Amino acid sequence: MQGESSQSQNMQSQNMQSQNMQSQNMQSQNMQSQNMHMLNMQSQNMHMLNMQVKDIGVMKQICLTCSEDFTAHSFNRVCNTLEGGHIFYTKISNASKYNDTAGIVAHCTNYLNYVQPDKWSWIIDFEDFGLKHTLGLNTGIQLSKLINNYGGLHELIVINTNMFVEQMLKMIKLTLNKEYHNCIKVLHNNVDFKIKINEWEPMDLRGRSMLETLLC
Ligand SMILES: [Zn+2]
Repeated sequence: MQGESSQSQNMQSQNMQSQNMQSQNMQSQNMQSQNMHMLNMQSQNMHMLNMQVKDIGVMKQICLTCSEDFTAHSFNRVCNTLEGGHIFYTKISNASKYNDTAGIVAHCTNYLNYVQPDKWSWIIDFEDFGLKHTLGLNTGIQLSKLINNYGGLHELIVINTNMFVEQMLKMIKLTLNKEYHNCIKVLHNNVDFKIKINEWEPMDLRGRSMLETLLC
């Protein structure tokens, strides 16, 4: 009897051990996947910052503020595509001087004058867009005047919006020429989009299909 009970105790403790091992395994798997997720997020954020670093070489000719601090404004050329022309990317929450309206308008104007695109597209990312950024409504209005004046806008792709942002866009559209209203595309599949934009390189020859698949 004693033998049996010590056997069953042994089995119990073995069971407990294997359960412990399993839960430890699951925990470590969970932690691994959390870590992977964090790494993914970090690399995505790094990539978005990289865009600001990538064209830092031309900033001296475009924007003195950004040549001293590349996080000041956010309007960077991502790549050139046959379909959409030169693609520019803006993430408002990446810009430390988000309320520097005159500086932002000058940055965008100078960049466009520097590239001189016949055709261009603009991706505006509203991720982490906060209340403080809504003060930039005037910046939005000034930038839509810039679009009207410069011309050649092919697509205006807006990602990571919410109802608040969409209300703001409605107000900005009042200034934007009617011919550009059809250019605005609000993209709701942000995850796929981020993967695609991560694959983009400056002057990417595959850019054409990228932009086409992006808008599907
Ligand atoms: Zn700048």
